[in-house]
This record gives sequence, structure tokens and C-alpha cells, in this order.
Amino acid sequence: MSALPPGSVIGILGGGQLGRMLAVAAARLGQQVHIYSDATGPAFDVASRHTVASYKDTDAITAWSREVDVVTYEFENVPLSAAAAADAAKPVRPGARALEIAQDRLVEKQFIEGLGLPVAPFAAIDSDADLTRALQKTGMPALLKTRRLGYDGKGQTRIMTPDDEATARDAIDRAPAILEGFVSFEYEVSVIMVRGLDGQTVYYDIPLNTHVDGILATSTVPSPLPSEIAKRAVGIAERIAAALEYVGVLAVEMFFVGADATEPLVVNEMAPRVHNSGHWTLDACAVSQFENHVRAVSGWPLAPADRHVDAVMTNLIGADVKAWQTLAAETGACLHLYGKRDARPGRKMGHLTRVSLKTPT
Ligand code: AMP
Repeated sequence: MSALPPGSVIGILGGGQLGRMLAVAAARLGQQVHIYSDATGPAFDVASRHTVASYKDTDAITAWSREVDVVTYEFENVPLSAAAAADAAKPVRPGARALEIAQDRLVEKQFIEGLGLPVAPFAAIDSDADLTRALQKTGMPALLKTRRLGYDGKGQTRIMTPDDEATARDAIDRAPAILEGFVSFEYEVSVIMVRGLDGQTVYYDIPLNTHVDGILATSTVPSPLPSEIAKRAVGIAERIAAALEYVGVLAVEMFFVGADATEPLVVNEMAPRVHNSGHWTLDACAVSQFENHVRAVSGWPLAPADRHVDAVMTNLIGADVKAWQTLAAETGACLHLYGKRDARPGRKMGHLTRVSLKTPT
């Protein structure tokens, strides 16, 4: 298929801050955005159009997808029935297979392991007996994670001691789960790659990510990741993207275990969408992850992912956002607010990218 000309309409499933930043990037390229969401969200303020209906309402999805030129999504828990309904009318990029994999931690781990890529030891947990058996293999500490709908550290619990075993499944409401061996890592990184319709790929610099209470706190570029390990990380993302004939931004989160380890990198999870650890690209690169995603799903050539300044992105979670006035006055700090009214604890309200101000030569 040829490139969608300027003025085309990109349908986005999901109306959160990622949809908002995608819509702004689309507008810059003269593309329009039609958001589909089950509730009003931050993307509505900046999108050309929006539809509010259930993700399970396949008739509504079908009607919406007929009004757009291509469909993408900004969260991975879009029901597969919605993706299938959209796909019957318009191309869905990235494809439904990426969604299917990213929605279920067990399927995801099996898929990544099946590609010969390193993951933490894992086992499916559907009963107490499964848990006992799996713990014998992984040892403690270990993490019990729900297969579905876990994000930002939700839907998971740590098993540190034998006493924790008895209560662990209750802590996740006895939902179908996986047990993961604990990876003792030096730090966490993510590869933010973009794959075009023609298979061309570009990669942003790999950020070092820190988390607080399971939620991303900061992403820093450059990271101290040795360059040969960075190449390996890119190779891992490349493998995943090629296997899925992927189109758009793909984020792959990894643990860096140490340069001397047999497997220096262990894949944690993938996100088939623009990613919080790539938000710094808005201010530190000529073309952000959001614009490159729009380019990819529109069938346009990708832009180089080069970075022109060093950057530290800090998420503004909950009450952090109350400091907006001070942050807005800080030199070299690029403030992004998502237009959410209610600063609930744990809610991503915005982010701040501190860039190094260099004198141009
Ligand atoms: P997740 O929801 O899987 O991304 O997990 C949230 C955070 O928990 C990760 O970013 C890590 O900091 C930590 N974590 C998850 N899985 C493991 C693991 N197998 N070993 C050590 N830490 C983990």
C-alpha cells in the first residue's frame, strides 16, 4: 500500500496521554486523528474527532474504522475482538498478533523465549500446586504476576520467604498467573525502535530507566550501557519486530545483568506502542517516537532517531504536578502536562524533560 497522504485520518484506539502526544505529532504532519475510547481522556483535547463507545462494541468499532484510513492503538489491552473488527475494514498497525502477545505475560514470555531470546525463568500458575512446583525451580525471591491486565507494577506480588507462598495467590485474586524468577540486575533499559511499512528500522538511544513503586520514574540518555551490549539490545528488538512483521513503535524493556554475564540482557516485556521511556524524544530528538509512529503507520519514510542533547525525563505522578509553576520556570526543563484534572496518587499527570543546554557550534 502506498503512503497515506497528508489529510488522512489515523484512528487511535485509546484516549490517554499517549494518544494525545500521537495526535499532536500527527497534526504536525497534516494528518488528522479520530480517537476511539470508552471514556473522555487527555487525547480528546487535541484530536480532530472522537468516538466514545465500549471497546467490546464491535458494531461501533466497525463504523468508526470505516471513517478512518488506518488504525493504531495506544494501549495494549484493546480487546482482540475490537482489533479484528477494525482489521476487517482498515489496516491495523501494529497488527493484532502484537496485541495478542503483549496482553498475556505467559504468551509473551513463550513467544520471546521461542525466538531464542533470554527471559527470566517462568512457569504458568493456575493452582497452589503449580506455585509450589514452580518455586522449587526458580527459588526465592520470585515474582507472581497476573497473566493479564497488569501494568505499572499492579497485579504482581513478591515471594521473598516460604511464608509468602501461602498468601501470594490471594494477593493477585487467584487470577491466572506466571511465576518469574527474580533477576538481579544492575539497571533497567528499554529499546524504543520504529519499523516502517517497508521493514526499515530506526532506534532511539537506549535510556536507563528507574522505577518507584513499579511505576516508571525516570529515563536517562545517554545510559551507561556499553556499546556492544546496546547493539545486542537492538538485535533483540529487531528479532521481535521482524517476527511480527511489525509496523510502528515497539518498546522492549530489558534488565542489564552485567557485561560479564553469559546473558548480559534479560527481556522483561514488550509494549506494542509508543512508550513512556521514550517521552524524552519529544525534546531531545528532531523527530520524536510519536512522529515516527505516525510516519510508520501512515506508510511514510521514517525519520532518523538521532538525539541532539542529553536528557533526563521525570514522570510527574499524582501530586508531583502541583509544582508545575516552579518546573515551568526551570531553565532547560521541558514541561509536558496531560490536561488531567484529578491528581490521584499513582496517576501519570505529565512529565518533565531536563535537557543539557549546549552552545551551538
Ligand atoms: P513489570 O510490570 O513486569 O514491568 O514489572 C515492574 C517492575 O518490577 C520492573 O520494571 C522491574 O523493576 C521489576 N521486576 C519485574 N519483573 C522482575 C524480575 N523477574 N526480576 C526482578 N525485577 C523484576
